[in-house]
Amino acid sequence: MIERKMYIAGAWADAASGAVLTTLNPSTGEAIGTAPSAGAQDVDRAVAAARAAFPAWSGLAQAERNKVLFNIASLIRENADEMAKIEGLEHGTPYADAFGVCMGAAEKFEWSANAALRIKGDEIPVPGDTLTYIKREPVGVIGFIIPWNLPTIMTAVKLAPALAVGNTCVLKPPSVNSLIGLKFAEVISQAEGLTPGAVNVITGPGGAVGAALASHPGVDLVGFTGSSETGKTILASAAPTVKKCVMELGGNNPVLIFPDADIDASLKVLAWRQFNNSGQHCSGPGRYYVHESAYDEFIAKFAKYAEGLKVGDPSDRSVQMGPVVSREHQKKVMGYIESARAEGARVVTGGTASERGFFVAPTVLADCTHDMKAAREEIFGPVAVIIKYTDDDDLVSLANDSDYGLCAHVWTRNIGRGLKLVGKLRVGAVFINCQMLTNEQPWGTSVKESGIGKEGGMYGMLEFTEPKLVCVNFS
Ligand code: NAD
Repeated sequence: MIERKMYIAGAWADAASGAVLTTLNPSTGEAIGTAPSAGAQDVDRAVAAARAAFPAWSGLAQAERNKVLFNIASLIRENADEMAKIEGLEHGTPYADAFGVCMGAAEKFEWSANAALRIKGDEIPVPGDTLTYIKREPVGVIGFIIPWNLPTIMTAVKLAPALAVGNTCVLKPPSVNSLIGLKFAEVISQAEGLTPGAVNVITGPGGAVGAALASHPGVDLVGFTGSSETGKTILASAAPTVKKCVMELGGNNPVLIFPDADIDASLKVLAWRQFNNSGQHCSGPGRYYVHESAYDEFIAKFAKYAEGLKVGDPSDRSVQMGPVVSREHQKKVMGYIESARAEGARVVTGGTASERGFFVAPTVLADCTHDMKAAREEIFGPVAVIIKYTDDDDLVSLANDSDYGLCAHVWTRNIGRGLKLVGKLRVGAVFINCQMLTNEQPWGTSVKESGIGKEGGMYGMLEFTEPKLVCVNFS
C-alpha cells in the first residue's frame, strides 16, 4: 500500500485529525493506498501557508519565478514514468496516454513562464496632466478544486499560470485520485527556489475540504473544475466573502454531422475522443445528430472502431481503453445505457459492465432521440448517443436546447455552412472538422451552466490577475 502525506508550507503533513482515505485501483477494485483525509483545520493551515508565502513569491522578479517554473517542468519530465504509472494505477489511464499527459503538464509550466513575460500594462488616455494606466497584479491566494477525469493535466493547467503571475495556491485533488495529486506535489516540492507555502496540496472529501476551501476568508479566488451541480454549491460557498470564481463545469456537447461530412475523418477525431480516457472528457462529444444519408455508414464505422479497441487493465501496455474511475461512476454510466435502452435506443455494440474493476464496454447507441435522458444529460463515459435527423431546419435549436454550453462539433465539407453556424451555436467553443486544444488556446465558457471565465491561453492566465487602475496627476 502506498501511504502519502499532504504538502503544506513546504513540509509533509498528516490531517490534524489523523484520518485517512483509501483509494482504489479502478481496474481491480482493490485498495492501493491512503492519503490524509483533511478537515477545516488543515484547510486553515494550508491557506495560512499560502498567505504567508504570497509576499515573497509575488515579489520575485518574473525571471526568478520563471526559473522555478522551468525547473518544475524538468522535474515532471524526469518523473514522467513514475507519474504515468500512478495515473494508470489510480485512474486507469493507459500508459502511453498517461505519459503523454505528463509531457503536456511539463509544457504547461514552460508555456506559462514564457506567456507571463507577454503580460503588459495598458495606458488609458485621459485629459490634463494625468497619467492613467492598468497594472496587472496577482489576485493573491487561489483555492483550486479539481475533478478526477484528468487529474495530472488539470493540476498543471491550474497551478502553472497561477504561479507564473505570482499567486500562491492551495489545491485539492479529487478524493479518488488523491495519490496522483500528492505525487505531483512531491515532484513540485523538489523545485529549487519555490517559496515554501507557494504550493500546498491537501486531500480529503469534497464536501469537507472543498467546501472549507471555497468559503475560506483567506482565499481570494476559487478555481474550480467539475460538475455544474458542485459548481453551484461552490459559488454559494464563495458568495459570503465575494470571491472571484473561475468555473469550468459540465457539458453535453452536440455534434452535427452534415450530409457532406467526411465520415472517416470525423470518426478519427470523434470516436477517438469518445473512448479515449474512457470517454471522461469535458470537451468530448455528448450527443450526435447525424443526417439520414450518412447515418448507417456513421454507425457501422463507429461500431467497428469501438469493437477494435483493446479494453483492459492499463498495466498491460497494449491496452487502449481502461476502466471508468469508480464503481459509482460505472453504475451511473450503465444507468444511462439502461434508460436509453428502455426508451427505445438500439445498442449496436457494448452496453455491458464488468463485475471486477469498473469497466464499461465501448458502447454505441443508435436510434436515440433528443428527449431521451441519455441525450439530455452528461454521461461522461464511453457511450456514443446517436440521433438521426432528416431536415436541418431545427438542428441549431436542438443543439442549443441544453442547460449546458461548453462546446459544439460540426462536420461538413461546406466551410461556409460551418462558419455561419458559429454565431448561432450558444457555446464557448466550436470545432469545425477538427478538435484541437493547444496551450495558446483558451478553453471554457460563461455560457449557461457550463462555467464562468476561461482557462488556458492568455485569456485564462489573465483570469488569475487583477487589473489595478493607477491614476497620477503630474501637473
Ligand atoms: P465533481 O463536481 O463531483 O467534483 C469535482 C471536485 O469538487 C472534486 O475534487 C470534489 O471532491 C470536489 N467537491 C465535491 N463536492 C464539493 C463541495 N460541496 N464543495 C467543494 N468541492 C466539492 O466533478 P467530477 O465528477 O470529479 O468531474 C466530472 C465533471 O467535471 C463533469 O461534469 C465534467 O464535465 C466536469 N469537467 C469540466 C471541465 C471543463 O473544462 N469545463 C473539465 C473537466 C471536467
